Amino acid sequence: MKRLTESVVDGSQAKNPVDLKNLPGIDRLLRSPDVAALVAEHGHTLVAAETRSAIDALRERARQGGALDAAALTPEAVEQTIRSRVAARLAPRMRAVLNLTGTVIHTNLGRALLADSALQHLLTMMAGPNNLEYSLDDGGRGDRDSMVEELLCSLTGAEAATVVNNNAAAVLLTIAAMAHGKEVIVSRGELVEIGGAFRMPDVMSSAGATLVEVGTTNRTHPLDYEQAITEHTALLMKVHTSNYAVQGFTASVDEGEIARIAHARGIPMATDLGSGALVDMSAWGLPHEPTPQEMIAAGCDVVTFSGDKLLGGPQAGLIVGSKAAVGRIRKFPMKRALRMSKLPLAALEATLMLYLRPERLTQDLPTLRLLTRPADAIRALAVSLQPALANAVAPRFEVAVLDLMGQIGSGSLPVEKLPSAGLAIAPVQKKGAGRALDELATALRTLPLPVIGRVADDRLLLDLRCLEDSAPFVNQLPLLRQALV
Ligand SMILES: *Cc1c(COP(=O)(O)O)cnc(C)c1O
Repeated sequence: MKRLTESVVDGSQAKNPVDLKNLPGIDRLLRSPDVAALVAEHGHTLVAAETRSAIDALRERARQGGALDAAALTPEAVEQTIRSRVAARLAPRMRAVLNLTGTVIHTNLGRALLADSALQHLLTMMAGPNNLEYSLDDGGRGDRDSMVEELLCSLTGAEAATVVNNNAAAVLLTIAAMAHGKEVIVSRGELVEIGGAFRMPDVMSSAGATLVEVGTTNRTHPLDYEQAITEHTALLMKVHTSNYAVQGFTASVDEGEIARIAHARGIPMATDLGSGALVDMSAWGLPHEPTPQEMIAAGCDVVTFSGDKLLGGPQAGLIVGSKAAVGRIRKFPMKRALRMSKLPLAALEATLMLYLRPERLTQDLPTLRLLTRPADAIRALAVSLQPALANAVAPRFEVAVLDLMGQIGSGSLPVEKLPSAGLAIAPVQKKGAGRALDELATALRTLPLPVIGRVADDRLLLDLRCLEDSAPFVNQLPLLRQALV
């Protein structure tokens, strides 16, 4: 550490200006009882680094002309600074939050919640060695796909299945393996952007395939596909337009028809379902979402879908289809780069197993449990929480129980809304309401368990569909009250 030879403190603004020479030395600080206790707990490396940074920060503040007060330089104050720096350094950046946005599968908030059985299997499998690529039958090398292939086949009716890192990878790998250096025909109405730079035309070029667009934005007919097929065509593809809907004068060709056109010319057909529910959602009064089993029955050679959207599992890309097509995809070298890790694989296996007991899904699978929660029950919860929240945000804000419309999320069923209920917090004073709402949103976000709502019509809305256990919310209300005074 460089020794300070002159005072660099501009003490003119400080109440009680000090000379930086009075800063305690690092060695002395590390020996002080408080800091030594930190060293005993966390080791020398971290505590010494944070001590050095704390002193550097003080010196930097002084160098930039900031006044340092003697109170900030007492051993007690410096020790406290070091303690909080160590604590902050050890606090994870990834934090649990309360999703009160009303969007059940929220991409920014981690998408699907894992079922208890998936968490348990994940934990048990990660705690020690497992048979990830080892055959317990003959002691030879095994294949990680075999952990879920049989389950995926029996649930979807497909002949074969493989899994990769996410659905974007599944689509990329499918196109690369099936159509590298050749042409893929897609309707102009299905050239989707999923967000995060995943756009169908770009995926095609990344996979080394040439996109051949057919039809128009609103209408595509069987003849459009038939006329576009040449000797360069390697794949006909349908993309489920999951995050938007084309309405009005529209026409599209269904999977079965595209598969027939493709097969008549000896070409395979693939469908990217995006979300892809493994069960018929309409059984619970939710809008129907196309299932992989319907796509397989319609004759698709490959169907790709996500693991962490409606399926309710970990991030994963699921590929199901014919033996020939899936075999080709599995052998393509890019598969190794996109393969799924053992962590999500364990969670995926346990999640898929829940589908063997469909009658229990709305209890066992959090995504379905939340999606099927009756609006009445959510409203009753809102009524019961209203007084405590009103008390916490008074007198600047008032709280009303409100019927709301939530969303499934993650591009699933984008035009459908989920009847829900929640609490609306509004500033009492209309003047400066925008600033008050910002302050409120910040106060909620900076709670130990951050509460994420949404702002609409000059109110902050907390949709309670995803609040299954209200205790963590209620227990933080005193802190919210403090933050708002
Ligand atoms: C979400 C989605 C993807 C990407 O899936 P990830 O699992 O997020 O990689 C691809 N295609 C469609 C149609 C989607 O909706």
